[in-house]
Amino acid sequence: MLRLTEIKLPLDHGEADLKTAILKKLRIGPEDLTDYTIFKRSPDARRKGEISLVYIVDLETPKEKALLKRFKKDPHVRPTPAMGYHPVAQAPSQLDQRPIVIGTGPCGMFAGLLLAQMGFRPLILERGKAVRDRTADTFAFWKKKTSLNPESNAQFGEGGAGTFSDGKLYSQVKDTNHYGRKVLQELVTSGASPEILYINKPHIGTFKLVGIVQSLRARIEALGGEIRFQSRVDDIAIENGQVQGVTLAGGETIASQHVVLAVGHSARDTFQMLCDRGVYIEPKPFSIGFRIEHPQRMIDRCRFGDYAGHKRLGAADYKLVHHCKNGRSVYSFCMCPGGLVVAAASEPGRVVTNGMSQYSRNERNANSGIVVGITPDDYPGHPLAGIALQRRLEAQAFELGGGTYNAPGQLVGDFLAGRPSQAFGNVIPSYAPGVQLGDLSTSLPDYAIEAIREALPAFDQKIEGFARADAVLTGVETRTSSPIRIKRDDTYQSLNTKGLYPAGEGAGYAGGILSAGIDGIKVAEAVALNMSHQLQALG
Ligand SMILES: Cc1cc2nc3c(=O)[nH]c(=O)nc-3n(C[C@H](O)[C@H](O)[C@H](O)COP(=O)(O)OP(=O)(O)OC[C@H]3O[C@@H](n4cnc5c(N)ncnc54)[C@H](O)[C@@H]3O)c2cc1C
Repeated sequence: MLRLTEIKLPLDHGEADLKTAILKKLRIGPEDLTDYTIFKRSPDARRKGEISLVYIVDLETPKEKALLKRFKKDPHVRPTPAMGYHPVAQAPSQLDQRPIVIGTGPCGMFAGLLLAQMGFRPLILERGKAVRDRTADTFAFWKKKTSLNPESNAQFGEGGAGTFSDGKLYSQVKDTNHYGRKVLQELVTSGASPEILYINKPHIGTFKLVGIVQSLRARIEALGGEIRFQSRVDDIAIENGQVQGVTLAGGETIASQHVVLAVGHSARDTFQMLCDRGVYIEPKPFSIGFRIEHPQRMIDRCRFGDYAGHKRLGAADYKLVHHCKNGRSVYSFCMCPGGLVVAAASEPGRVVTNGMSQYSRNERNANSGIVVGITPDDYPGHPLAGIALQRRLEAQAFELGGGTYNAPGQLVGDFLAGRPSQAFGNVIPSYAPGVQLGDLSTSLPDYAIEAIREALPAFDQKIEGFARADAVLTGVETRTSSPIRIKRDDTYQSLNTKGLYPAGEGAGYAGGILSAGIDGIKVAEAVALNMSHQLQALG
């Protein structure tokens, strides 16, 4: 196979134009192009008046050798690199112990799927409910029909934190083994659109994710895995530095010397239990801030000019960063084009914001977190001090919002001028349960407020209207990533607890759906290899 890169076509090109461009580039006739597939398609919007699409294609041709010779000096014609996935182990048919995976977020799901594919029949334990029931609980809370269920919400339940999300599937992690490709391919096998394999910055959208999560579960079960819901792990047995098993909330104990800990960043009770059991944990940096909402049309216009609204471009996104005079950095986080701001709390009496979109991304507002990086110097002392800070800020937001799970909000113009807000302008915030306008200046530490006040006008220089007076801020955004890292060694086991495999976002090894899935694959491989070596050693 040959890979051609940098094939540029106008935004409005027709179906046949790509094939014509390939033939032209390689100077071959149609009879010499057996087949081709798009590997990547990205818009080039650097010049707003002339947006184009840039393709990478893989193709089959009987003239491969000759073409490689002809184009040997051209970096845009190369053999297609091998990106297939090969399992690292296969479980023996007699397996007297099953690995346990805690959590069914993307990390736990992919660890479970890979272990099942390698024949290890994992037992997967999830504190929350199956995705349909969880969806009902979460949406009822958002609509104020029920109060928050601490075990079934935007963070907890089948599919993990990313289920009610934009489902963005890109990450900046180094991925030399192409595990990201494996994650995308498995998602397609489970019902995602094949376009996620080639479009730049693919996303799935909330409602589609729900079906995909169910399909992943069915595939794991068909391969001999088992998933148990409403099965919260409350304790972990450790003897002489080796995990022996787990205890569930109801008191049941389950033995296993291989336990993947994929509990996400909101499992604060679980982190406390691990700390009490002496598992080595370090504090780590994370970010705090607000969500901001603007009309999506304003963002589209600024990014795409006259092409705004073009079907091949969809709703525009943005990525912003500003380094402040006080040494802090402010950046946009988890931008959701045409999306909604959602209530992402998992603990009673606390308010946390985040964002989601449907596949169509056609809600009227664009939203993103505008967050400030903080480090353990801001919350010194205990390894879990970052969690204490998150809890303090979330409880304060609950109070500022009126104690009903409404989020406290303020218009950008008022926030910059230092006065409370009283009425919305043209931007109506999307956060359900609701927004209580007021003054956000006490909702975050002073350094964070100062940094965001400096950053918003700077962002307005990049996206005109970003600091418009009626853009709406809602607070608080505190669950940007895990405030801890449960450190692991080269075998992916905890530094001081053998058989415990800290994984995914909660353990500090991922920061999104794709990277959590990739980490799940890595950890599944480590478990499979360690179990195989142990079985071999036992003869
Ligand atoms: C609203 C929202 C929108 C987001 N949007 C995006 C996006 O568009 N793109 C993106 O890449 N990322 C997004 N994220 C972040 C992404 O969801 C996470 O990075 C990802 O889900 C982390 O995966 P994980 O498997 O490590 O943990 P999680 O997804 O958090 O999963 C952890 C699971 O463990 C379970 N659990 C916790 N404790 C226990 C216990 N003691 N016993 C049993 N089970 C337990 C939880 O119930 C949960 O199901 C979003 C997050 C939220 C909340």
